[in-house]
Amino acid sequence: MSYLVLARKSRPQDFTQVVGQIPVVKTLQNSLVRDRVAHAILFSGVRGVGKTTLARIMAKAINCENLENGNPCNKCSSCTAITAGSSLDLYEIDGASNRGIQEIRELKEKIKFLPTSSKFKIIIIDEVHMLTTEAFNALLKTLEEPPAHVYFMFATTELHKIPITILSRCQRYELKRIAARELGKHLQRLCEEEGVELEKTALDLIVRESEGSVRDGLSLLDQVFSYGEKKIGVHEVIEVLGLVSRDVIHTLTQALLENDPGSAFQALEQTFDFGVDLKRFKADLLTAFRTLILCRIDGCQELIDIPQQELTFFQELAKNYSHNTLHMKLNLLMQGVEDMGYATQPRLSLESTFLKIISADDVVPVSSLLDKLDKLLVNSAQPEQKIKAAASSKKKIPDEKSIRQAIKTQAEALPVKTEEPPLPQEPESPKKDKLVPHPHIHDVRKDWPGFIAHVKDRKVWMAQDLQRANKAREVDNKLQLHYADKANCAVLRQKENIKLLTEFVLDFFQKDLTLCFITPDKKDEKEDDTAESPHKLRQKLANDPLVLMATEIFSGQIGDIRVGPRSR
Ligand SMILES: [Zn+2]
Repeated sequence: MSYLVLARKSRPQDFTQVVGQIPVVKTLQNSLVRDRVAHAILFSGVRGVGKTTLARIMAKAINCENLENGNPCNKCSSCTAITAGSSLDLYEIDGASNRGIQEIRELKEKIKFLPTSSKFKIIIIDEVHMLTTEAFNALLKTLEEPPAHVYFMFATTELHKIPITILSRCQRYELKRIAARELGKHLQRLCEEEGVELEKTALDLIVRESEGSVRDGLSLLDQVFSYGEKKIGVHEVIEVLGLVSRDVIHTLTQALLENDPGSAFQALEQTFDFGVDLKRFKADLLTAFRTLILCRIDGCQELIDIPQQELTFFQELAKNYSHNTLHMKLNLLMQGVEDMGYATQPRLSLESTFLKIISADDVVPVSSLLDKLDKLLVNSAQPEQKIKAAASSKKKIPDEKSIRQAIKTQAEALPVKTEEPPLPQEPESPKKDKLVPHPHIHDVRKDWPGFIAHVKDRKVWMAQDLQRANKAREVDNKLQLHYADKANCAVLRQKENIKLLTEFVLDFFQKDLTLCFITPDKKDEKEDDTAESPHKLRQKLANDPLVLMATEIFSGQIGDIRVGPRSR
């Protein structure tokens, strides 16, 4: 008795039996019907998607005596000889083991002669990218002027390794991975033919493991069949194939997102108990996070090729987290998985990574942090006192220490709320009236401190940046701001900040003034975003007092600093 492996037993014998690759099959059949088959065809694609299968069917079709709509009959002498592997006019060469110039020379000798029993000689070279440069060169001559009685079929998994001179002489077909649904249907049919009942979830698991390769799917199915049972469930598949149960991956992903170290550690325990392949396990976990991120990106849903039930699970889980948070957790996981490779105690290393992921808080955009900070600063200070202090002091920069203290006290007393805290109702004091006089008599030079106070009530950081100006002057409908160091106005000069500041100016001075920043380097410079190199700007931002304060108040860390237009 002999067991014929599924891959051989179920090998497609004509185009109708090919799994997937519909556009390629259609084009090939059309070329056969119109008698316009190229003399050199190259099939590329990952393993097990049907490259050599298509080459063999093409070989059959080219020589078939009763071609039916571009499909070989599988009955004529040529077809049957090819199916049986006894055709004298079909040469199948493995490029990996016959890669030298000598083999190609021998091949060229053979194809000089006319075919023995068929119309054409067909040469199939599998893994053609393995040929040496000399072998390719020897082949090139033949491909330039192929004898009329010869057809070449090449197959490769590594298209980029084939010389362009060869590529340009071939008709190329790129084969795609087989979609999960299609592969599932195919494997399901084979199970039925074999009289094996395979649970739906078990089938899904095999399909997922196959990663779009029919051959991989078949060999996994072979392994499962060898289990000997006529009814196979998901647990048998997990056991036979040494896989990680999807439940474990789901529990673990959920635990890492919902900050539940207990469940995460238990899931890990299960995994280690089971003696699963660690590499596999890591890959599965990373893929789970990738799926979550894809769930959160519009238009990326079709990139997720997993069973519907699992997709629903990930979609439900993902919607509670921002894409940034998921990305940050994925990064931590990737780093941890890499570290695990060098660790003497991999499990401990992984547990430590889990804790890191769990303790990492959600990512909040800097702009929202800054807004919160603005509100805190507005609430924290007694504006009159500040103005008094500013007026009595010669110092341009306010006493940061005291602000810092004020914020801290405020932050401790006041939990950060999502809703906006009510703006303080300031009584109309005579002091304020003196600083913010009637709009009509506003003068830029005289009322500058009042303007800064006006801005401070709305955007604290902006007021601070304005205070760093050496002087402010109004010249021909322009508001000139003089800065000794252009770093001090770099953020102010960003487009959206200029817009906001212009509005403040209009509000306060009742004049539509164009903002001009005057820095030592360049006179009368308008907005210019390229004033500083991104690197310097990033460094500056990282050391900006406001950022430092924010870091402290929110116990945060500076992660990614992106320099560019802000969304504020
Ligand atoms: Zn035939």
